[in-house]
Amino acid sequence: MFDLTGKKALVTGGSRGIGRGIVLALAKQGAAVAVNYHSRVDEAAAVMAEVKKLGRPALVVQADVSQKDQVIKMFDQIRQTWGQLDILVNNAGILSQAPFQDLTEEQWDQVMAVNLKGQFLCSQEAVKLMKPGSKIINLASIASGGVGVGFGLIAHYTASKGGVVALTENMAVDLAAKGINTNAIAPGVIESDMTKGMLADEQYQKGLLARIPKGKAGKPEDIGAAAAFLASDEASYITGTVLYVDGGWLAG
Ligand code: NAP
Repeated sequence: MFDLTGKKALVTGGSRGIGRGIVLALAKQGAAVAVNYHSRVDEAAAVMAEVKKLGRPALVVQADVSQKDQVIKMFDQIRQTWGQLDILVNNAGILSQAPFQDLTEEQWDQVMAVNLKGQFLCSQEAVKLMKPGSKIINLASIASGGVGVGFGLIAHYTASKGGVVALTENMAVDLAAKGINTNAIAPGVIESDMTKGMLADEQYQKGLLARIPKGKAGKPEDIGAAAAFLASDEASYITGTVLYVDGGWLAG
C-alpha cells in the first residue's frame, strides 16, 4: 500500500516542520525527493541527508517560491537531474499576525505571494514535467474558511488559505484531462516553528487544546502520512478534495 518506489517528488519548504515530515514520509514509501528551502540551507541539507540514509535519491533546491524566475530555475534543476516529476507538495508557507485594522499592505502582499501565488507558480512549472498519474498536494489549513473555525489576527493568512482551497478545486478540474490529481491537506495545529510561540504560551495552549478532541497538537509526521496517501496510486480517484488532519477539531 502507498508504494512510491521510483517516484520523483518535490516538497517546497521541505527544510523544516511539516515540510520535513512530508519529505521523510514520501522517502519512506520509496520516493526520491527534492527538498526546497528559502533561506535555511543547513536544515535543508540535513533533511537531504536523512532521505539519503533511507536509501533514496535526494537533492536540495533553493528558491523563493513567490519569485517566478527562481521557481523556473528550481524546476530547470529538477528537469536536468530527473527529467520528470511525479509528486509536487506545495507546502512552503508563512504566517504573521496583526489585528485587522493594523494589518499592513506589505504583510498582506508577502503572505499572499508565498502562500498562494507560490503554489500557482510551482504548479504551473510542475505540470510541464508531469505525466498521467502524477499528484499535486497543496497545504491549506483549518483556517481556510467555510468550516466554522473563527480565527482572529490572521485575515491575510486565512484569505491565502481560502485561496488555496479554491485553487485546488480549479486545478483538479483543469488538470484531470492530463491525468493529474490535485488535492489539499488542511492541518489543524501542528508542532513546528510556525506554532511554537503559541504552543509555548500555557494559557493559549490550554484554550487551544480544549478545542481539539484528541487533546494534543499534531506532529509533522501526521501530515506526512496524509501526503504519502494522497501521492499514492491508491488515491487515484481522489481529486479536488480537502483532507482535514486536525485531531477532530472540526468535528468537536
Ligand atoms: P514552518 O515550520 O514555519 O516552515 C516553513 C517552511 O517554509 C520552511 O521550510 C521555510 O524554508 C519555507 N519557506 C518559507 N518561505 C518560503 C519561500 N518564500 N519560499 C520557499 N520556502 C519558503 O511552517 P510549518 O508549520 O511547517 O508549515 C508548513 C505549511 O503548513 C504552511 O503552508 C502552513 O501554512 C501550513 N499549515 C501549518 C499549520 C501548523 O499548525 N503548523 C497549520 C495549518 C497549515 P526555510 O527553512 O529556508 O526558511
